[in-house]
Amino acid sequence: MIRVTAVHPDSIAAELGLEEGTELLSVNGRELEDFLDWEFLTAEEEFVLHVRQPGGEEIEFDIERPLGEPIGVSLEPARIRRCANRCDFCFVDGLPDGLRDVLYIRDDDYRLSFRYGNFATLTNLKRKDAERIIEYRLSPLYVSVHATDPTIRRYLLRNPTAPEIIPQLREFADHGIEFHTQIVMSPGVNDGAVLQQTLTDLYEFGPAILGCSVVPVGLTEYSKHHLVREPRAEECRAAIALIEKQASIAKHQRGIHWAFGADELYVRAGVELPPPEIYDGFDQVENGVGSVRWLQQRIETAGGELSGWEGRRIGVVTGSAMAQLMPMVLEPLTRSTGAIFDLIPVVNTLFGSSVTTAGLLPGMAIQKALSGRSDLDLALLPGESVNDDSLFIDSMSFDVLTHSVPFEIRLSHDFADVLHIPVAA
Ligand code: SF4
Repeated sequence: MIRVTAVHPDSIAAELGLEEGTELLSVNGRELEDFLDWEFLTAEEEFVLHVRQPGGEEIEFDIERPLGEPIGVSLEPARIRRCANRCDFCFVDGLPDGLRDVLYIRDDDYRLSFRYGNFATLTNLKRKDAERIIEYRLSPLYVSVHATDPTIRRYLLRNPTAPEIIPQLREFADHGIEFHTQIVMSPGVNDGAVLQQTLTDLYEFGPAILGCSVVPVGLTEYSKHHLVREPRAEECRAAIALIEKQASIAKHQRGIHWAFGADELYVRAGVELPPPEIYDGFDQVENGVGSVRWLQQRIETAGGELSGWEGRRIGVVTGSAMAQLMPMVLEPLTRSTGAIFDLIPVVNTLFGSSVTTAGLLPGMAIQKALSGRSDLDLALLPGESVNDDSLFIDSMSFDVLTHSVPFEIRLSHDFADVLHIPVAA
């Protein structure tokens, strides 16, 4: 059963008399469990929908509608699938106390992997889930592999019953499912020869694995430092050498680069970022893989749309990881806009200075960094630093922040998305 949270005006649902609180029970006799069932089972032109209205009345509708016309309901969010692992590097273990409850949920959900590109380990799949992945052809999936050696993977996931990943992927691949994969690299565990083997196994698996990124393990002040550590520069350089070797084989054999290192891996290694063409289609940019090159491309493409900022001063708030790379982005941005950019790196006061990701910056730390800045015409914040309710990770609201400074603040994902709009006079 899925509960309706809103009915869109002038929609099929409104015409049928569905309302907030209506329970969607089944389509063509098949019970509905979540948004996936709803979307896939109602994809036909004609179907029978069985509902229970908030008053308890059960009704069956024979629905006939032009293909593609939405039914017009919003659904309650699906219950998140909990993770079956206990990785030493788990970000949830690295959270301080007192944050919003939802942040402490360890999610590992193949549905979110398909829908939003969240990485999932697939260790909590039941047979029914596997059948749904195949039936609904949920592809591509984003999969955290970490290591193909089952013993090492189980150790990394702290899950002695984790199924072997290669046969698991094989079953799905045989039904046409494709994968983007990642390896979170924990030094001394899955780097070196293990990394080499994992890259080789995943590449040799065949074209169903579209690519593989290597991301260095990231810890906070509260993480389990007695069990796991971040990689040193030379370990990151060794990983880059393996990635680039695999990428060169893939380029030669398949015409794609296939293996990528996260930007953070290059920063830690002290090695210059590779050129944009090595990221294939930037499929893992949300995972911090090729972010800088992607931003540069976005700015180049937007070009003339960004003009009109001559002489204006724009503050760019970022975490310390990106701060090192941001000059590479601000240079083309200055050329395109004519503005003067001030980089404002913010230290993460909530998680500790080792957490350098811009998306995890607390609102309080940003507010402190911007206080006293009366010289700015505009400040740009990383778009991912607030959630759908416009709250920062420390629950401060974006609205409160904007009212505490004398200039406009905009949330931006790639600069081009907000700098085509002139600042208010
Ligand atoms: S898979 Fe590991 S890192 Fe991800 S939520 Fe589970 S325990 Fe945490």
